[in-house]
Amino acid sequence: QPVVAVVGRPNVGKSTLVNRIIGRRQAVVEDIPGVTRDRVPYDAQWNGRAFTVVDTGGWEPDAKDRAAAIAAQAETAVVTADVVLFVVDAMVGSTDVDEAAVKMLRRSAKPVILVANKADNTSIEMEATSLWSLGLGEPFPISALHGRGSGDLLDAILDALPEAPAIVENRPRGPRRVALVGRPNVGKSSLLNRFSGEERAVVDSVAGTTVDPVDSLVEIGGQTWQLVDTAGLRKRVGKASGTEYYASLRTAAAIEAAEVAVVLLDSSEPISEQDQRILTMVTETGRALVIAFNKWDLVDADRRYYLDKEIDRELRRIPWAIRLNLSAMTGRAVDKLAPALNKALASWETRVPTAQLNQWLTALVQATPHPVRGGRAPRILFATQAGVAPPRFVLFTTGPLDAGYQRFVERKLREEFGYEGSPIEISVRPRK
Ligand code: GDP
Repeated sequence: QPVVAVVGRPNVGKSTLVNRIIGRRQAVVEDIPGVTRDRVPYDAQWNGRAFTVVDTGGWEPDAKDRAAAIAAQAETAVVTADVVLFVVDAMVGSTDVDEAAVKMLRRSAKPVILVANKADNTSIEMEATSLWSLGLGEPFPISALHGRGSGDLLDAILDALPEAPAIVENRPRGPRRVALVGRPNVGKSSLLNRFSGEERAVVDSVAGTTVDPVDSLVEIGGQTWQLVDTAGLRKRVGKASGTEYYASLRTAAAIEAAEVAVVLLDSSEPISEQDQRILTMVTETGRALVIAFNKWDLVDADRRYYLDKEIDRELRRIPWAIRLNLSAMTGRAVDKLAPALNKALASWETRVPTAQLNQWLTALVQATPHPVRGGRAPRILFATQAGVAPPRFVLFTTGPLDAGYQRFVERKLREEFGYEGSPIEISVRPRK
């Protein structure tokens, strides 16, 4: 999600402007000279496009050089932003503090929109034209308080944003797409045979969906699912030697086409390299994951406990996967499959509001800061969730993070927000 930073002297109305953009009143703390406000991100949208607004309140009253302090604040905002809103007070005009910040802004390659706030009436609007002298192009006269001109400003922001993604309001409510995968003989066809299937005519039966004819609709737990590449399951591809390569391509294609994968394993045998490869395909493709241990009926009751421990070890890189012990033959726990799929898909599509995410993150980095490396420790400035399916996060930082610390953040993120059954991706954008 693209980031818009709001920069300017104290009291020019940055918070009011942010409130106006996010469509809330008085949600944001007012500028109070002498009060340090941290960079706070908010979710915003306009005309069906989503972006993050960062309110850069951090004004340092103790700094000896006010202009330098403001410039430093602007500098931080600029590195993390895609677009900068530079706010000045239209009633005051430009000051030397503004000019110091402008110098820095002009050095950066980032698009800057000059906002002349407090233009509550036409005569102030006229005066705002003098702000052309700042050299940032056309000033946008607005009244953040009354809303005057804010629509035009939002249009200008969208124009300047690189690739603000369209908001997918509601995904088309067709059946969810599931891949049932696993090496030969783990019991895929046996499991499939437990569900009532509708082989063809998928296109006719579900209005408005176009479905590959190799898929079929099956009922699992009273719900209809689109099982991708059931043709591959029923025709037994991959039995003869030499076709393993094609079977693996087919598995990869099914995972790619699905939203959630059920990886079937054979509980009566150790987890093999091929099993691990299939699991890796799912995590690397970023699909939700349910691991089903089939043939559980073959496992002696007294071995089950130890087997579970063994499996924990084998799957320690994906502790978040949902695991089921079932038997396609006896029907044991087969009814747990649909709830597991639904849970994994819900995690896969979870979106955490930016404010909530950063509240949590602030507390986390305060309690456990990044270890010091070569005399300095990189700081995480803020985070946004860049997407769902699977959840993707971007951490804006002052420098690269240790792999270990990044894993720590991911683990804590999972502890806080769940994501059971879904991979999550975290990328780090250090300032350059
Ligand atoms: P696929 O190659 O993954 O489609 O596997 P199949 O469904 O053809 O099953 C392979 C073999 O395992 C067959 O002989 C099945 O009868 C047997 N099988 C499948 N599921 C179970 C199970 O839950 N328990 C037991 N004991 N055998 C099973």
